Amino acid sequence: MTTGTATVGPTGPGPARPSGAGQPLGPAGSAAAVALPPRAERAARAQEAADRLRTAAVEAVAVTWVDNAGITRVKAVPLGGLTHAAQWGVGTAPCFDLFLADDAMATSPAVGGPTGDLRLYPDVERAVPLAAQPGWAWAPGDRYTQGGAPHPGCQRLFARRMAAAAVGRGLSLKAGIEVEWVVALAGSPQEAPQYPTHGPAYGMHRLTDLSDYLRDVLRALGEQGLAVLQIHPEYSPGQFEVSVAPEDPVGAADTSVLVRHTVRAVSARHGLRVSFAPVIEAGAVGNGGHLHLSLWRGERNLGHGGSGPYGLTAEAEGFLAGVLDALPELLVLGCSSPAGYLRLVPSHWAGAYQCWGLENREAALRLVTGSTGERATAANAEVKCFDASANPYLAVGAVIATGLAGLDQRRALPPEFTGDPAAAEPGTVPRLPEGPAAALAAYEGSAVLREALGEPLYQAVLAVRRAEAEQYAAATPEEVAAAARWRY
Ligand code: GLU
Ligand code: MG
Repeated sequence: MTTGTATVGPTGPGPARPSGAGQPLGPAGSAAAVALPPRAERAARAQEAADRLRTAAVEAVAVTWVDNAGITRVKAVPLGGLTHAAQWGVGTAPCFDLFLADDAMATSPAVGGPTGDLRLYPDVERAVPLAAQPGWAWAPGDRYTQGGAPHPGCQRLFARRMAAAAVGRGLSLKAGIEVEWVVALAGSPQEAPQYPTHGPAYGMHRLTDLSDYLRDVLRALGEQGLAVLQIHPEYSPGQFEVSVAPEDPVGAADTSVLVRHTVRAVSARHGLRVSFAPVIEAGAVGNGGHLHLSLWRGERNLGHGGSGPYGLTAEAEGFLAGVLDALPELLVLGCSSPAGYLRLVPSHWAGAYQCWGLENREAALRLVTGSTGERATAANAEVKCFDASANPYLAVGAVIATGLAGLDQRRALPPEFTGDPAAAEPGTVPRLPEGPAAALAAYEGSAVLREALGEPLYQAVLAVRRAEAEQYAAATPEEVAAAARWRY
């Protein structure tokens, strides 16, 4: 294997060969995967879900979608209205696609203004009573037009289309999004954060100080059917992390929304304020939203047992090479807030360099094989450069799109990078974009993302990112951090 002095060239085209490419990634390629089921079927499923929720004393259902700025927005219905909502949808304005994190609105010729209406349909199969919000349930929503056509700007339908594009190639993915957060005492949001524990990083001291709180987080997640893998204190003051079992890509994005709102609800019950923002304080280690992925053909994990690096099969290697190459433009979808670039700096374990490496916490793409003996199930790759200001549906869908493009082109990975890229000869390992402008430039050059997202969603994301980049172009790091601190 190459070492820390190797030159890596992930931005090069790689050894692309003619492909036996699968179906196109654009909206037409997987239209069937996002068609609205017949109304009678939706009504029957909603009735079953409502009966199930009623036994858990649910009175109202919060139906969420995540906007292009990474903010979870909501419409709620009383439980008695769930079946109606599943049949006809709940009204939402199309201009939500241009909302910024501070609730200002961008403009784009590709997205309408204040007129028009969309219908938000709860995914009733995923509806779950909220353990820390008694009487409430949550369900993620998909957005369709009043005529029942998929809304081209719907981020969750985009993720569903990309998962279907993998299935169209005989493949499937398992994904999981790690959630890091900071808890502070619930004082005024204008004041500097005060932390409820001052224990050392990863210290038992912190777990002991907040043991009732952390037990309640675990209990709530468990009661909501989530399989927690780990919970632990993280590096920065007041920082913790929880990870949950991998699942299908859309399920993983849903789960990341549910986990964050559960942590928020439990925190409120303990008099704590919570932040999932990329940084809480400029200069400190921030909150990541690392995305773990494994590629499967039937029961076979393609990250294991092949002849590529560390047993990657050619398909998994092509997939990862596609993702690695596209990381600059992927930041537009995986690192939404300008504050994300304050987190994405060397020697912060945030993955600020465009390279890959086995268990390398400074590489944006970290290969994880697991222990000897468990590799067939555990092998996966972690996109470390993403944070929780991302819309998780856009992040997971865009990674799948660029991965499938790499797979279709039968790409190979460049040499591995071992060690800390910050300690390497300057220029040896490319840094990822250091601000929104460079990421946007890469995004504007990405034919793969443009095709996969489809023009309306591609343009809406572009308008939102440009507007937020302009908002904070002249701001100091402290101002950027403060603006994001309590929004995510
Ligand atoms: N908090 C780090 C980040 O910003 C990640 C630490 C870890 O590797 O879990 O991504
Ligand atoms: Mg962590």
